[in-house]
Amino acid sequence: MNSATLDKLQQISEQNLLDIEEAKKTGTRVIGFYCLYSPVELAEAAAAITLPLCGTRNDPISAAEEVLPRNLCPLIKSSYGFAATDTCPFFRLSDIIVADTTCDGKKKMFELLSQYKPVHVMQLPQNQDSETALPFWLTEVKRLKTVIEKETGNRITDEKLTAAIRLMNRERRAFKALMDLAKKRPSPISGMEMLTVKHKTGFFADRKARIDVLEVIVAEILQDAPETGSPTGENRPRILLTGVPVGLGSEKVVRLIEESGGDVVCFENCGGYKKVQPVEENQYPLLAIAKRYLSIPCSVMSPNDGRTALLDELIREFSVDGVVDLTWHACHTYNIESHTIGAFVHDQLGLPFLHLETDYSTSDTEQLRVRLEAFFELML
Ligand code: SF4
Ligand code: SF4
Repeated sequence: MNSATLDKLQQISEQNLLDIEEAKKTGTRVIGFYCLYSPVELAEAAAAITLPLCGTRNDPISAAEEVLPRNLCPLIKSSYGFAATDTCPFFRLSDIIVADTTCDGKKKMFELLSQYKPVHVMQLPQNQDSETALPFWLTEVKRLKTVIEKETGNRITDEKLTAAIRLMNRERRAFKALMDLAKKRPSPISGMEMLTVKHKTGFFADRKARIDVLEVIVAEILQDAPETGSPTGENRPRILLTGVPVGLGSEKVVRLIEESGGDVVCFENCGGYKKVQPVEENQYPLLAIAKRYLSIPCSVMSPNDGRTALLDELIREFSVDGVVDLTWHACHTYNIESHTIGAFVHDQLGLPFLHLETDYSTSDTEQLRVRLEAFFELML
């Protein structure tokens, strides 16, 4: 990735904060989201700014541990710690938080989070059955619509919702085009660069501006691709990363994979391919939204067959040589599901598979490095 693009990203992330502050002064409401299951289209249709708030840094965890148990997922502690220490500008700017009952740790943390901001919790079903779970989830989506209308003072009509679905689908196409760059062999963008682009383009006041920037970045990278090539060369193993969400600050395993000899070419997790599935555009919009969000293949669903189906597709499309499955400490759903994923990847597809369990700290960096180097040696 060339330095002009990197410079642009830096300027963009500094400007975003100022733009959001300006928009708030003129009455625009800001809604913070924590999970991929929360339908952002409803906020978009009510002309609110949406901000992704998932905690990806280690710094606020010690403050969180004064309230939360230490043996809890670092993502949950980091998210709570940012609120408790008032160190996340995006949390501070949020007028209301939308959360979901995903895993046990997160839903109980949201109860405590409500002392800092108004929190609306969506009751997420535990399976994706269309006869029982979908009608329930549709009711939850309608309940969120009422909450957002009250918060913003704007009525969400079907027309506005349809326009929001179209805009969000365009954003998904732009985001997918960015990730699809790594289908090229060699990939013109490293996994670390991909994380940087995703993070620095994640906090716009205006969604159309975000999409434009993503499209320009993709075009620039494509233009430079022949010169840039892979950051490290053609023969490195192409790795798909699955499992828990990662971002800047919790990128330890991505960095170590790339330092130890692999290229992360595909992120299957919820900051990656789990989020690019479009919403059906020719359906009653609330039902289309409910269907699409409920179908997200996260390990909090039981069963979660969609994850192996998605992995199967991505492994082929990205010419993947090996799969690394990442679990945060104390994340039971991803930890237990790793057995099924390993059996699918290794036994059915015949590909090397490595399960890593860690947290946001650096204490196990060298142990992880040794395991990754051994993994890559076996792949040669
Ligand atoms: S991993 Fe699952 S529960 Fe966690 S943020 Fe992503 S979609 Fe939500
Ligand atoms: S990584 Fe696991 S434990 Fe942590 S918030 Fe997501 S589902 Fe919950």
